[in-house]
Amino acid sequence: MNIIFLGPPGAGKGTQAQRICDELGIPQISTGDILRRAVKDETPVGLKAKEYMEAGKLVPDEILVEIIRDRLAQDDCKTGYILDGFPRTVPQAEALEKIADIDVVVELAVDDEALIRRLSGRRVCLKCGATYHVSTLGDKTTCDKCGETLIQRKDDNADTVKNRLEVYHNQTAPLISFYSGKGLLKSFDGMQDINAVYASIMQVLGNRA
Ligand code: ADP
Ligand code: ADP
Ligand code: ZN
Repeated sequence: MNIIFLGPPGAGKGTQAQRICDELGIPQISTGDILRRAVKDETPVGLKAKEYMEAGKLVPDEILVEIIRDRLAQDDCKTGYILDGFPRTVPQAEALEKIADIDVVVELAVDDEALIRRLSGRRVCLKCGATYHVSTLGDKTTCDKCGETLIQRKDDNADTVKNRLEVYHNQTAPLISFYSGKGLLKSFDGMQDINAVYASIMQVLGNRA
C-alpha cells in the first residue's frame, strides 16, 4: 500500500507513521528526516535546504521532487511505503502523480493551540527519527529505540513554529481538497491520544490490506 500522511507540523504524522510502518513492514519516508540528515552531513542538498528549514519555510519543490524520485526508485519501496511530510504543495502533489500510484491519504487534524504545545515540548532522535514529548519523558534524555541523546529541533521554537503553521495553512492545506477530489482522502481526529489515533488509522488501513 502506498500511503501519504498529511497534516500540520506536530499533528503526529511521524509518531504514527513510525509505528504503522513497523506494523506493516514498509519504509517510512520522512522528507524532514532526509533533509535534516543532509544538513548534518553538509551535502549539496543540505547546504541549500538549511536556511529554509531554520526559517520554517518550505525547501524548493524541485529539490524535494528529486529526493522523492530517488527514494521511491529503491527496492524497499516495491511493497509499499508511507510518505511522511511529502507532498507539501500542489506542484509536489502533481509531480508525485507522475511517479507513484497513491492508494490512500491519511489526514490528521489537530487545532493550532495543541500543535504549539506539542511542538514546543517535542524531543527527537536524529539517529532513528523517533519522537518524544517532554510531558512523558520524565528525566530520560536518550532514545528508547537506539540510545542516542535526544535533542530539541532548532525549528521547534515559538517564532519558527508560528511561521510553519502559517506555511501549512497557505501552502499545504490545499492538498486536503486536492486529494478529497480524487477520492483518496481519509480524515482522522488527531486530537485523540496516540493509541486511539493509531487504532482508528489501522482500522481503515486494515480494511484495505
Ligand atoms: P514536521 O514534522 O514538524 O511537520 P518536518 O520534519 O516534516 O516537520 O519538516 C521540517 C522542515 O523540512 C520543514 O519545515 C521544511 O523546511 C522542510 N521540508 C520537509 N518536507 C518538505 C517538503 N515536502 N517540501 C518542502 N520542504 C520540506
Ligand atoms: P509531526 O510528525 O506531524 O510533526 P510528531 O509525530 O513529531 O508530529 O508529534 C509532535 C509532538 O506531539 C511529539 O512531541 C509527539 O510525542 C506528540 N504527539 C504525537 N501524537 C500525539 C497525540 N495524539 N497526542 C498528544 N501528543 C502527541
Ligand atoms: Zn533513536
